[in-house]
Amino acid sequence: MEFAITIIGAGVIGLAVAEELSSRFPQVLLLERNAGFGQETSSRNSEVIHAGLYYPEGSLKSKLCIEGKWLLYDFCRKYDIPYNNCGKLIVATSEEEIPVIEGIRDNAIRNGVKDLKVLDHHEVAGMEPNIFALKAIFSPSTGIVDTHSLMKRFESNILINNGQIVYGSEVTAIKKLEKGFEVTLLDADNQYFKFTSRIVINSAGLTSDKVSEMTGMQDEKLKIHFCKGEYFRINPPKNRLISRLIYPVPHNNMEGIGIHVTIDMGGGVKLGPDVKYLDSNTYDYKVTPSKQDAFWRSAYKFLPFLKPDDISPDMAGIRPKIQRAGEPVRDFYIMEETDRGYPGFINLIGMESPGLTSSIAIANYVLTLIRN
Ligand SMILES: Cc1cc2nc3c(=O)[nH]c(=O)nc-3n(C[C@H](O)[C@H](O)[C@H](O)COP(=O)(O)OP(=O)(O)OC[C@H]3O[C@@H](n4cnc5c(N)ncnc54)[C@H](O)[C@@H]3O)c2cc1C
Repeated sequence: MEFAITIIGAGVIGLAVAEELSSRFPQVLLLERNAGFGQETSSRNSEVIHAGLYYPEGSLKSKLCIEGKWLLYDFCRKYDIPYNNCGKLIVATSEEEIPVIEGIRDNAIRNGVKDLKVLDHHEVAGMEPNIFALKAIFSPSTGIVDTHSLMKRFESNILINNGQIVYGSEVTAIKKLEKGFEVTLLDADNQYFKFTSRIVINSAGLTSDKVSEMTGMQDEKLKIHFCKGEYFRINPPKNRLISRLIYPVPHNNMEGIGIHVTIDMGGGVKLGPDVKYLDSNTYDYKVTPSKQDAFWRSAYKFLPFLKPDDISPDMAGIRPKIQRAGEPVRDFYIMEETDRGYPGFINLIGMESPGLTSSIAIANYVLTLIRN
């Protein structure tokens, strides 16, 4: 059996890529080892449509996030996907934090995000009367999206485009051929199955390094390091005291952007995620109840109404980081691998935040790589 294009991994990025490519080419196949789409990182995140404020100037993260947010808003409007362009406040709670938020504004302006507003204490109180901030930056283009509905729409569009999706199929080997690749998968009946594909796109999230290595490519710099983020939720009725996303100033090396407050389309309010590199790459989604006090202390600085028992353990996700703990921030790795001797193999590795926001822009970027 022969396919033109095979995409490995049906998270939000693999789905977006398959949607775009199946609208342009025949014989597009999307493979997923789980029984359905988006059961890993794509369903364990903050669901924020990021504005593109923090990422280094000229990086793919910056470019694809800024392009991607507008494409995502358009897509949501076109297909009636629930979203809320609620905006976000980045708050300074001490004098020392004021230059930090001003630095974020300056970086955002260099990246082309020009709609930020600096608010004083009174203006913040007018928008969010229940929070504390000496000063804040308001980002009007930030929002939230119902990620499940988004992925469901991508899935439907792929099928409408005559693309094929096979769940319960884990890719176990990839062999380079003279033209294209032979892909081996283990199907839902525990049977091995081989086929060929001219182009293979590795969108395998937390195991994208392993999938790349199946071809024979080895690169220590592209090893994934699992980095867990846990969330607590604000219990009702206090969840109703917030109507926007509220972020403190980020950590220095951008391992995470600080324990922040996100709202979701169902009216829930979450604190998190924190940042913890896991010693081994295990799928550890447990939430640690003993962190409750630490979460409360981080959030109490800007949510003065919060008492320690107003929050409860919620959920956890794992970031597929290519930067090790303490290393400077790394960009998305999106590469057509001709230079390494694998023409037609496209790697997407280290697709952490803002991968959801950027998903449609990433799909367009992959299309350009294929056309080139
Ligand atoms: C805590 C946290 C918060 C985040 N918050 C945000 C946010 O607010 N906004 C934002 O824009 N981004 C956010 N992100 C990032 C975003 O969630 C990811 O960038 C995005 O979900 C990645 O999608 P993906 O398709 O690459 O990966 P995944 O969702 O991990 O999908 C990869 C898929 O590949 C499959 N797969 C792996 N190996 C194989 C194989 N051998 N064969 C077949 N299938 C395979 C897996 O089963 C999986 O379904 C956050 C991430 C985390 C962890």
